[in-house]
Amino acid sequence: MKTAFCVLVLLAATAPPLLSSQTAVPPRKAPVTHHRAALSPTAVHRSALVIDTHADTPQRMLDDHYDLAEPLNGGYLNFASAREGNLGAEFFSIWVDPTLYKGQYARRTLELIDAVDQQAAAHPDRMMMATTPEDILRAHREHKLAALMGVEGGHSIENSLGLLRDYYRLGVRYMTLTWANSNDWADSSGDSDDPTVHHTADGLTDFGKDVVYEMNRLGMMVDISHVSDKTFYRTVITSRAPVFASHSAARALTSAPRNMTDDMLRAVARSGGPNSHGGVVMVNFYSSFVSESWRAAWNAQASERQAAENAQIAAWKAEGRTITYQMTNALDRQWAAKIPRPPLSDLIDHIDHIAKVAGIDHVGLGSDFDGIPSTPEGLDSAADLPKITAALMARGYSAEDCRRILGENFLRYFREVQATAGQLQAEPDQRPAIAAQQPFRK
Ligand SMILES: [Zn+2]
Repeated sequence: MKTAFCVLVLLAATAPPLLSSQTAVPPRKAPVTHHRAALSPTAVHRSALVIDTHADTPQRMLDDHYDLAEPLNGGYLNFASAREGNLGAEFFSIWVDPTLYKGQYARRTLELIDAVDQQAAAHPDRMMMATTPEDILRAHREHKLAALMGVEGGHSIENSLGLLRDYYRLGVRYMTLTWANSNDWADSSGDSDDPTVHHTADGLTDFGKDVVYEMNRLGMMVDISHVSDKTFYRTVITSRAPVFASHSAARALTSAPRNMTDDMLRAVARSGGPNSHGGVVMVNFYSSFVSESWRAAWNAQASERQAAENAQIAAWKAEGRTITYQMTNALDRQWAAKIPRPPLSDLIDHIDHIAKVAGIDHVGLGSDFDGIPSTPEGLDSAADLPKITAALMARGYSAEDCRRILGENFLRYFREVQATAGQLQAEPDQRPAIAAQQPFRK
């Protein structure tokens, strides 16, 4: 049994009465008390090391030459908003659109990595590349944004463990096994129902298991956001380090196939074996993942939206324009704007649900900033992150609980993955590769 369970019980035992009963009590003069004054939500947020594990800003940096020192210009993340939201560390997503960059996955991956590096090089006083938990702490002490990287989608390694190791050497510290597309060795939740896509027999091929083990050995975090349920469970029993979800929400509350069932939430918390403290689920802010009614409205306009967007893209191509992610995302945002945004409380419901089901030690923030067309009301950029802390405290979460959710849980997880890598590297006989040859067959 995980310690998280005990913490959860404690949390429940110390939770204050419901807010509604508190508000019914007329306001009083400040009582004489011997207790230390409670910290305000603002002070608690300021005291936390805030870590977000998913932002798609590198697409903007590379394609639009966006500089984090500029105003947001429709984006969610820049230096000013990060500072206002007390964001200490961001994992920049190295995501290669599998359709737009077919045949050039490694090239595009390398260019995105370079785009993040160039930002850090241009702003050494405000941002530093980080590859370890210690780097994150150092950046925090120096009041700089710690920039980390995660590759989103195993297609980026082009079926090569060598490329996987190259990305690690360049600073990549997690890989999402799939994006919305299945690859040759792991299945995605995004095309599970597509009969034209070939899927693996068991969720991971033998080579897929080799990939997971090599990630364990390197100290690259295994990210199960986006994968199919079958691939999820196969990965959990294959990985020697705990796994995590860099940007996912709870399926019990919102029925997105890419959200995680309660059983999966518990499996992440228990992943990594009996001596592990377990993984962590970083909650995605996308309206379609946190609000069932918003999702229904979005799905209801799907055929009309897709037809209109395809027509626009065809028109752009006819003009000879190169299609980028920002262009298609802008179209999505126009359609998303037709639907009223869900309340912030919907997102808080997901954090609260995961904290209760997986445990308070197993939840964090994975915004998906700059990768999604809609967020809940009030969450317009990284500057609004303190609102999450205030909402959690209003529900009875202590300052300590908030600090765990905001970053400490993830930091603990990151440390354990690195420690596991150290153990695996010290093992005298390395695990032999399962896949005998590359390229391999399914
Ligand atoms: Zn994603």
